[in-house]
Amino acid sequence: MSQKTIFEKILQGEIPCKPVYEDEYTYAFNDINPQAPIHVLVIPKTKIVNVALSNENDIEQMGRVLYAAKKVAELTGIAQSGYRLVMNNGENGGQTVYYMHCHVLGGRSLAWPPG
Ligand code: C5P
Repeated sequence: MSQKTIFEKILQGEIPCKPVYEDEYTYAFNDINPQAPIHVLVIPKTKIVNVALSNENDIEQMGRVLYAAKKVAELTGIAQSGYRLVMNNGENGGQTVYYMHCHVLGGRSLAWPPG
């Protein structure tokens, strides 16, 4: 059996965490190493490893993650000024935690393209 990721430990209450937003399908919390004044991670409550390994059964969960990201942007006050949603996927995408998560970044002007 594969090892639990840090995000599963957070979801299961093994690591204390104060959610920024939570609903039946998703959980959102501040990134431990913020890259912007607002940097929140949104994860689905049911495990999906990443977009590449998703399947049709995951479509609703993935939509819920995006909708929760919108809620997070509203709750953290960055909805008006704009923000970026990022899902790193696999090694070249810079994914370090293999449990799907959407980064919600905002609170400053963000450069493009990413490094
Ligand atoms: O997209 P990627 O997989 O690289 O993102 C993982 C994110 O999880 C990082 O931004 C990292 O700071 C964050 N993290 C966290 N709490 C942990 C471990 C990692 O917020 N305990």
